[in-house]
Amino acid sequence: MFLIVHTAAATVISQQTGNPMLVFLMSFFSHFVLDFIPHGDEKLTDKTQPKNVQFRKLFWVATIDSFLIFLFSIYYLLMFAPTHYGLFFVGLGAAILPDLISGLSFVLNGKFNKDYPWLAKFQNIHKTIHTFFERKLNFLIPLKYGLIWQAFFFLMFLSLLK
Ligand SMILES: [Zn+2]
Repeated sequence: MFLIVHTAAATVISQQTGNPMLVFLMSFFSHFVLDFIPHGDEKLTDKTQPKNVQFRKLFWVATIDSFLIFLFSIYYLLMFAPTHYGLFFVGLGAAILPDLISGLSFVLNGKFNKDYPWLAKFQNIHKTIHTFFERKLNFLIPLKYGLIWQAFFFLMFLSLLK
């Protein structure tokens, strides 16, 4: 899913406990739960296209996504004024970490597997979870419906904030 949805989920989690380690672990775990649900951005880039064309698309998606996180962070910190706002950043970091590693693997390409075997193994698990329904059931929802679906999740998490 898009990072803004992962961020909203982590924000809800950061309000449930004062334990930063727990916020980290649960936010990290929540990433995979959300990625497991079919959500339309599994095929964001066309792998047959040249790497630089794929990169440009991913770059813009990541830029818009990051900007949304920026806006959301300001909104949350100002409107909800959480007492332990550090927990928000712990959750945010943990929830987007798997996709940061994905980004790194994309940028480093072949070097990634060679230089970071542990991260490569992790990235494989991430990818396996992300494409589960597509691989097992050939089920993939189009991006435009995926966006509506993800907006639904985002609003649901927003409504859970206290
Ligand atoms: Zn992911």
